[in-house]
Amino acid sequence: MPQRAATDGWTTCALGHRHWGLAGAAGLLLHRPAPDGVEVLLQLRVEWSHHGGTWGTPGGALHPAEAAADGALREAGEELGLTRDDVILGAESIDDHGGWSYTTVLAAPSGLLDAGELALNPESIAAGWFPLSALADVPLHPGFAASLLTLAPLLT
Ligand SMILES: [Zn+2]
Repeated sequence: MPQRAATDGWTTCALGHRHWGLAGAAGLLLHRPAPDGVEVLLQLRVEWSHHGGTWGTPGGALHPAEAAADGALREAGEELGLTRDDVILGAESIDDHGGWSYTTVLAAPSGLLDAGELALNPESIAAGWFPLSALADVPLHPGFAASLLTLAPLLT
């Protein structure tokens, strides 16, 4: 199990949501060109986790003084077995709820990234590449779904 961090804990943002992570959270949004547009790498979270049973970006609460990109990479490493060498970091998009924010760190795979060969941890049931144009039919994590309109233009 990951070590407990000083920033672990629930907080309520200015929008009235409950969020895990006192210093905010970050996730890694991997994207790559596909024949019919752009594909994104999503992870299916186990049922017992917060918003379990939905697809979203690998990610989680930031540790004290941790940069968003470092936190996103750490979480993607824990959840999907990704390493820093597997990705080329891109822009960051901050979804600020007031008192809590989620930073999506965009990244491209540095090579062929086969979702079926990722080393998933117990928090992850599956991982896969999804065409951006097909996400309307996928049960998405509500936070990720809400940020898609902002994120989509950054992926092209
Ligand atoms: Zn919120």
